[in-house]
Amino acid sequence: MDYFPIFLRLAGEPVLVVGGGAVAERKIDLLLRTSAQVRVIAPELVPGLAERAAAGEITHVATEFSPEHLDGVRLAIAATDKRAINAWVARQAERRNIPVNVVDDRELSRFIVPAIVDRSPVVVAVGSSGDAPVLTRRLRERLESFLPQRLGALAKLAGKLRPTIKARIEDPARRRRFWENFFDGTLAADVLSGREDAADPELPGRIADAVAQIVRTVPDSGEVVLVGAGPGDPGLLTLRALRALQNADVILYDRLVSAEVLDLARRDAERINVGKTAGGAQVSQEEINTLLVQLAQQGKRVCRLKGGDPFIFGRGGEELEALAAAGVRFEVVPGVTAAAGCAAYAGIPLTHRDHAQSLVFVTGHTKSEAGEGDDAIDWDQLARPAQTVVFYMGLGQLERIFSRLRAHGAPESRAAAIVEQGTRAEQRVVTGTLADLAQKAREAGVQSPALLIVGEVTRLHETLQWFNATAAYSVSKQVRLTA
Ligand code: SAH
Repeated sequence: MDYFPIFLRLAGEPVLVVGGGAVAERKIDLLLRTSAQVRVIAPELVPGLAERAAAGEITHVATEFSPEHLDGVRLAIAATDKRAINAWVARQAERRNIPVNVVDDRELSRFIVPAIVDRSPVVVAVGSSGDAPVLTRRLRERLESFLPQRLGALAKLAGKLRPTIKARIEDPARRRRFWENFFDGTLAADVLSGREDAADPELPGRIADAVAQIVRTVPDSGEVVLVGAGPGDPGLLTLRALRALQNADVILYDRLVSAEVLDLARRDAERINVGKTAGGAQVSQEEINTLLVQLAQQGKRVCRLKGGDPFIFGRGGEELEALAAAGVRFEVVPGVTAAAGCAAYAGIPLTHRDHAQSLVFVTGHTKSEAGEGDDAIDWDQLARPAQTVVFYMGLGQLERIFSRLRAHGAPESRAAAIVEQGTRAEQRVVTGTLADLAQKAREAGVQSPALLIVGEVTRLHETLQWFNATAAYSVSKQVRLTA
């Protein structure tokens, strides 16, 4: 981040604008949304600015710029059509440590002005550090269309209620929960939809009851939300997962959770890595269970974030049993499991009228080479045709899986694919058959996490990958390899 975003309080503060043309006028219109004292240095003004000067909204100094105009100024904007003058203003402002913007000139500017969505007191600012102004404007338009018009009214009402709530709810964590309930509740919906007039002077009195009611319903105890983070691409998070991430006081996450997903969590949430790391200390399942219970009992809102779906080879069930035993409230948010994510991004339909009428998810992580612990797996069933079998955690056991399948009747020509780092920018797909895929995976140096998909549907990858926009990364990689 080369630019640090801040909101500057300009009420009553002197701001200098050099230039009196249309460009200056646009910036001045923006500045006047605050109650800054705008002083304009320009021999002449366009009619719009002249009117503003006549009305006393701005002060006009009808002269060329000279450095003493900067004395005592909080902020300066150079908006003349002469680069030399703008550069001179910028240099002088820099010398005095006055933040300066030269309109449309990133090099000369100390600060740049973002695109804004104004729902005062709520203001959303969007910037691209000057790299892509058109993209920034697009984003602004999208935000504009989805932020309710009366958002500002709601924020003002909240501002009015703040002192009361602060006095009534001492604990900051409970207070935050009050506000979350408040903004999710009917009162807020009524203000946003215009059914309640937030500016009505009687409103704060009338809502006292509603507030008391919300205060009563804010729970003191913590809770755990068990959240499926999906296979990596943050675009695959559900809206509920996103909300849980943003409401959490503490986040316990696994190794499989991608950095991009974690990045969406509330900034000040505590993050605890309970994943196994190569060489790092491993947190046992019992320790995780105990930690979840303890944190919730301290009144924290805990987000337990797991790769994929928490109930598919995620030991989510065990964690919930521990929570239930301790009487801790919980919630489960399902996620896109690796099989669904990898298949979509690799162009492999998991079922297909011609090739697969059923689908099996199985763990490839069974106990020993000699086959102990294998008993629980029905290899006869997995070896049958007309189905797709997805092996989670199977990478370390490819040879054994393939030899088992063959020993139980699968032909060596049966197609299979491995998807490494599925749905992420680094995704790779290796295809083959039961006869050669293990060898190919070794040659390609496939690493964990990787998913093994066995079945004729994997042959579709060849055709579908070229048109599959979700797999754009892996396709472009392959194009490079074949070119
Ligand atoms: N609960 C998870 C699975 C956890 S088991 C889910 O629903 O997806 C861990 C195994 O999942 C890994 O060994 C690998 O086989 C698979 N896996 C998880 N994320 C993956 C990814 N992005 N790409 C490929 N395989 C993945």
